Amino acid sequence: MTTALATILEKLRHAEQSAGRAPGSVQLIAVSKVQPLERVVAVLEYGHRLFGENYVQEALGKWPDLRAQFGTVAVHMIGPLQTNKAKVAVELFDTIHSLDRPSLADKLASLAQTRGASPDLFVQVNTGAEPQKAGILPEALDAFIADCRRRDLPVVGLMCIPPESEDATPHFRMLSDMAARNGLTGLSMGMSSDFPAAIAAGATHVRVGSALFGARDYAGR
Ligand SMILES: *Cc1c(COP(=O)(O)O)cnc(C)c1O
Repeated sequence: MTTALATILEKLRHAEQSAGRAPGSVQLIAVSKVQPLERVVAVLEYGHRLFGENYVQEALGKWPDLRAQFGTVAVHMIGPLQTNKAKVAVELFDTIHSLDRPSLADKLASLAQTRGASPDLFVQVNTGAEPQKAGILPEALDAFIADCRRRDLPVVGLMCIPPESEDATPHFRMLSDMAARNGLTGLSMGMSSDFPAAIAAGATHVRVGSALFGARDYAGR
């Protein structure tokens, strides 16, 4: 794991440099969903302190203990968030990358009111307009962001998962254009297979799981 982490960090720095980006302008989110605990611990022991999770329940079973052990660790929610888990999620996660629908914005706004605080938020955009995929459609995005801002939700950027069968770069570029147009600086894009391309297109957060931790064994959960 730690060799893989060193290799990925090296690729990331290289991609930053070739894109003319400032060193350290891209953050590596180590996507630890479904991974055995010892792999996560190895990456923590190496000194990495930014992780991504997809499932509230799984994250809850892991991160309170690991934070007690390792100190401050940023954990970002990158998977679909059910409205009935939002309350737990805002307590647990520093950032949520999957604000993907108006009903979730409603819920997060009401929790922010009650708590007087909110995690940073990325709006997930369905750049490929895929019917089975979550996210705000590109044509509805500007109005959605305006609505989030009216409710004082701390939207810091956009997130996308490009269609599997397509070249990702046009989707990364589209996301970058939509962010710029809306005055947003955060760009959560790029996974194991395409994070260097995402960095070339302006990613600020790449979400890397399998290339770092190895394949996920969903059957062995
Ligand atoms: C699982 C997941 C990742 C990590 O995917 P890898 O291909 O294993 O790097 C990134 N982003 C999201 C939204 C995910 O669900």
